[in-house]
Amino acid sequence: MKAMLIDGKAVSASLREAMKAEVEELAEQGITPGLAVVLVGDDPASQVYVRNKEKGCEELGIYSEKYELPAATTQRELMDLVETLNKKPDIDGILVQLPLPDHLDSNAVIEAISPDKDVDAFHASNVGRIMLGDYRFLPCTPAGIMELIHSTGIEVEGKECVIVGRSNIVGKPMAMLLLHENGTVTVCHSRTKNLAEVTRRADILVAAVGKPNFITAEMVKEGAVVIDVGMNRDGNGKLCGDVDFEAVGEVAGAITPVPGGVGPMTITMLLKNTITAAKKQ
Ligand code: NDP
Repeated sequence: MKAMLIDGKAVSASLREAMKAEVEELAEQGITPGLAVVLVGDDPASQVYVRNKEKGCEELGIYSEKYELPAATTQRELMDLVETLNKKPDIDGILVQLPLPDHLDSNAVIEAISPDKDVDAFHASNVGRIMLGDYRFLPCTPAGIMELIHSTGIEVEGKECVIVGRSNIVGKPMAMLLLHENGTVTVCHSRTKNLAEVTRRADILVAAVGKPNFITAEMVKEGAVVIDVGMNRDGNGKLCGDVDFEAVGEVAGAITPVPGGVGPMTITMLLKNTITAAKKQ
């Protein structure tokens, strides 16, 4: 493979090392950051994410509580739990693992979380702050991607940045972070015409589509930095991203693998937000 591999595990490990020292400093002041993770139902992927978040907390010395609720939990019960956690003094961050079962209104749940404890940065007031470039909490996946881009040594300023995908949790906040670093940003989606023409302009290409092998070598400019956010299963049930890794690796200048790219960074940024929340409380 020609492209440089962007190692999310290594970047994440070095950030976590620094964060561990921060947690130790806080401990000297008698402060232990605390994260509450709420899981409703028994979706296996969500269970894995929650377990990884707990493991990350343990590794850094962050206190964590897990609330596992049955799939039949009512909106009222979930809202009551969020309300209790909002008031709980040893909890600095609240994370409700999405997606929730269909009968629950996730927007209402997100809006019920205190913006000061919204470590996912999904609450409307934190989303608004991201637009203003005034971050209380970093949007986890896009912020992790910025760290990966910085690790390559490439400057975002003046670069053509193309994002494929416009979700509220990845595509849109990603556009804001790149814009704040003076990138020239284009956001593509399912109605974009001549997609390959647009992606081929990218110096930095972020794929957040949710379709295996969606980004092919023909869609990538020689030397581009390619960030693969996708977490999909291929025909054999193996975890894969949105990018045709082997073929694109022959064209790109740098590329993230799946697994081991963006995934570990998202959790690292969540832990960072929890430390930030503890400092602010
Ligand atoms: P969504 O399903 O919310 O968004 C997908 C986006 O892709 C939409 O904006 C959609 O366009 C666009 N899209 C779909 N088909 C096409 C097409 N043919 N051409 C161009 N654009 C298209 O996904 P998410 O943003 O939540 O997640 C994307 C992927 O990233 C998933 O695989 C998810 O699992 C993964 N993910 C990984 C994380 C990590 O930590 N590594 C964190 C979050 C997500 P439109 O809006 O028009 O429908």
